[in-house]
Amino acid sequence: MVAIVVTAVFPLVFVLLILASIFGIDMDADDVMDGGGCSPIGGVDMSAWDATFTKAGVLKDKGDKIKEVATKQGIDPILFAAIAFNETGWGTSRAVVEKNNPGGLMDAATGMSTVKVFATLDEGLEAMGVTLHNRIVKDGLNTVEKLGAVYAPIGVANDPNGLNVNWVPTVNGMIQKLGGLSMNCSTTSAGTGQYIIPVDTPNVSSGFVDRINPVTGVPEHHKGIDFAQPMLSNIKAADDGVVVFAGMGVSGSGFGGYGNVILLEHAKTKEWTLYGHQSGILVKVGQVVRKGDVIGKVGSTGQSTGPHLHFEIRKEKMGGQIDPAPVLGVQTKN
Ligand SMILES: [Zn+2]
Repeated sequence: MVAIVVTAVFPLVFVLLILASIFGIDMDADDVMDGGGCSPIGGVDMSAWDATFTKAGVLKDKGDKIKEVATKQGIDPILFAAIAFNETGWGTSRAVVEKNNPGGLMDAATGMSTVKVFATLDEGLEAMGVTLHNRIVKDGLNTVEKLGAVYAPIGVANDPNGLNVNWVPTVNGMIQKLGGLSMNCSTTSAGTGQYIIPVDTPNVSSGFVDRINPVTGVPEHHKGIDFAQPMLSNIKAADDGVVVFAGMGVSGSGFGGYGNVILLEHAKTKEWTLYGHQSGILVKVGQVVRKGDVIGKVGSTGQSTGPHLHFEIRKEKMGGQIDPAPVLGVQTKN
């Protein structure tokens, strides 16, 4: 009896201790990536995906939610699902059933001594997505083996039963059941830290200045520089990076007025570059781009009076614009 209790309870305690050491610092949903990203290497095998989810306990109906969160976080839904299945014993652990916590996230409010409680399972999956993004993209733990070395280190004092050795093979087995990985996260680069001019024939029509907005007539600080360009001419990535926003900047999105806009995150500089008023959107969130890649075509969408690229360099994801002209070495006349 005692032996049963020991084997049933202790592994769970040890797993939680291990998780506590890596989770809990990642609860900020605004946390952003510092490097890398994942590129699609083929679609998800939907029949394998659906068949595997039928055995996944309370996660059974959460396939679509996991895909949604994975897309938002630029990570592989297959890897996300495999880790969730592993951490929850196929969706049956007390943490996921009673606390809506599929990722073993610990509660900062209790000094990481208890598993965090989420109001809904969707909330728990969102939080797990942020943490996985940080481990995979920000910290560069971009293979199952590298993740395992952190999630379940082999030979550590808090794994006396040697269970951690199972983490990598078990997760890999679940990945195979789900139809195999659908993204490659290991080919990323931090970039050079040196931005190139993102258009071929740089003709600066407006600098980083206080001005009257040409569309609204309202005085403003122009937070980037404008390159007047031929319609549909190439827009190039200023450095290696990951697409963190790509779409029409509708009001309330934080990108209102920018029209079709892309925001890239750059690991080397820990900065973001923004490319506004594009004719359409050619890239997807989570996509890894290389310096000089054509990421869009010049347009005049959003608050714009003619075809141009509005380009920003940001110190923060949603602000902190600096003057790109001296960085790019271009002259501005106004
Ligand atoms: Zn502009």
